[in-house]
Amino acid sequence: MKNLLEVSNLHVYFETPAGLVRANNGLDLQLEAGGSLGIMGESGCGKTVLVYTLLGLQQPGKIMNGSILFKGRELVNLPEAELNNIRGRQIALIPQNQSTALNPLLKVGEQISEIETALKIPDTGLDNAKHLLAELGLGDIHSVEHILKSYPHQLSGGMRQRVLTAMALLAEPDLLVADEPTTALDASTRTTALNILKKSSSKTSLLVISHDLPALKTLCPKLAVMYAGRVVEYSDTESLMENPRHPYSRMLMKYQQSAGFLNMPLTGFESRDLLGDDKGCSFALFCPQATAICLKEIPQEVCLESGRVVCHLYTRNGVQTC
Ligand code: SF4
Repeated sequence: MKNLLEVSNLHVYFETPAGLVRANNGLDLQLEAGGSLGIMGESGCGKTVLVYTLLGLQQPGKIMNGSILFKGRELVNLPEAELNNIRGRQIALIPQNQSTALNPLLKVGEQISEIETALKIPDTGLDNAKHLLAELGLGDIHSVEHILKSYPHQLSGGMRQRVLTAMALLAEPDLLVADEPTTALDASTRTTALNILKKSSSKTSLLVISHDLPALKTLCPKLAVMYAGRVVEYSDTESLMENPRHPYSRMLMKYQQSAGFLNMPLTGFESRDLLGDDKGCSFALFCPQATAICLKEIPQEVCLESGRVVCHLYTRNGVQTC
């Protein structure tokens, strides 16, 4: 199947008083049209920077190198006016944290009208939004009318999640990006959020950024693991969860299984090597299988039968780079 999204060798850096932070550092990923891809990794690995870079909102970060092809079109260095035609219309975002993402001073219906105006969606008197909200499980049209006249604080977490999803789907985007869609949700709202996204995946391609492994398993047949600004392993979700190949992925899975938590706990090895010289493997200081070459040479991507992995272990074993 044709790729909807192809990110190649993406480098996004931030200048900080402590030095240059390499938030995305040679990141590669692909998403097929109609597919769903999960991206997992701990805090600070560059997941959210990737999301904002896809939308051209990475500033003050700078794209130093790389390519983002969306429907075959290069997004890096695209003029702002053209990016505006893509944001919201072709690539839409469900932001993190439903409790703060909506404007507390405007009723839901007013916020949806603003979005329709900004995206130049024909005025249907909010009919599209009403149908979407009803489809997403907010009850009959009468209940939906009530929600449109409500302020965000008058809605439950699950209702706000549905409203944000409906807003993202208004323009029928080709790609829906959900950034940590289950973070800080109680159990029942989390289930609602997952059901909503599952439903949405029949309308659009899905990129789900999360550290909630069970959620990713539910939503995404393909999974990428990020560490220190790179995708270090990419595979089908089941293989990656059952037989992770990268040492960092193995640790993530081990912690998940032993902790038995819904959300993945920090391993203690979260991406730290984002500052300073870009030398060797970023995981080398924590990796139980590191050897001398790991401290000196940046590993290249290797193709395995189940997917791809970025690790010297496999080149050492004579496997060719992709
Ligand atoms: S390249 Fe070396 S340090 Fe990095 S994950 Fe592989 S074995 Fe470990």
